[in-house]
Amino acid sequence: QEIAGGNTRVSGGGWFRNNSPEQAEVFLRSLNGSRTVAADVVKTWAAETAKNSDWLRGLGATVRQTGNYHTEPEFLELDGSDCYAGMDTINGEMGQSLLYEFLLAALTDRGVEIRFDTGAEDLIVEEGVVCGVRVNGPAGPALIRASGGVVLATGGFAGNPAMVQDFLPLEDYVLWGSPNNT
Ligand SMILES: Cc1cc2nc3c(=O)[nH]c(=O)nc-3n(C[C@H](O)[C@H](O)[C@H](O)COP(=O)(O)OP(=O)(O)OC[C@H]3O[C@@H](n4cnc5c(N)ncnc54)[C@H](O)[C@@H]3O)c2cc1C
Repeated sequence: QEIAGGNTRVSGGGWFRNNSPEQAEVFLRSLNGSRTVAADVVKTWAAETAKNSDWLRGLGATVRQTGNYHTEPEFLELDGSDCYAGMDTINGEMGQSLLYEFLLAALTDRGVEIRFDTGAEDLIVEEGVVCGVRVNGPAGPALIRASGGVVLATGGFAGNPAMVQDFLPLEDYVLWGSPNNT
């Protein structure tokens, strides 16, 4: 529990305001360069990131743009970068785990159970349908069934040196985020 929250907890807690899903698609493709990402993933990312600020407001957050921090995209020269309209944060402030703390409170307020120290190890698939996960935690292995679907939100793989080498490929790198993102 002390180190929960993945990269989100240690991040600046700001998210870019996307003012054009169409241009955001172009921007993500430009950022990916030769490492292509599936078209439906790019489209979904572009459409959904345009809704992040309103989604957080809907959960009760006070969302404000950081004053003059990150007002421009990091790769201004790339096609599509004009989708970037600044960086929103909780209360207009960066860091301090504000986004993580807000999301954690949103879960606990709604009575969502959090099982810390519990790794999902496999999906339960029946007749081609994902209907749960196999986990391993302090109480040992368990199956959790899900009637409405399983959302995988396990972050990236920066905590897995072999995958970093295979997929990026980088041999010497410094891990900035959660060692749990394997
Ligand atoms: C130092 C730092 C600063 C950053 N600042 C910014 C910023 O200001 N703005 C920005 O847009 N981006 C920033 N980023 C990037 C951003 O933090 C990440 O892209 C974002 O937090 C990823 O969120 P996520 O929910 O996908 O994954 P995460 O927040 O990393 O969460 C993944 C979670 O999944 C858990 N997990 C992994 N595997 C399993 C498993 N098998 N079973 C159960 N749980 C598992 C992990 O323990 C973790 O809790 C920053 C990153 C770092 C490291």
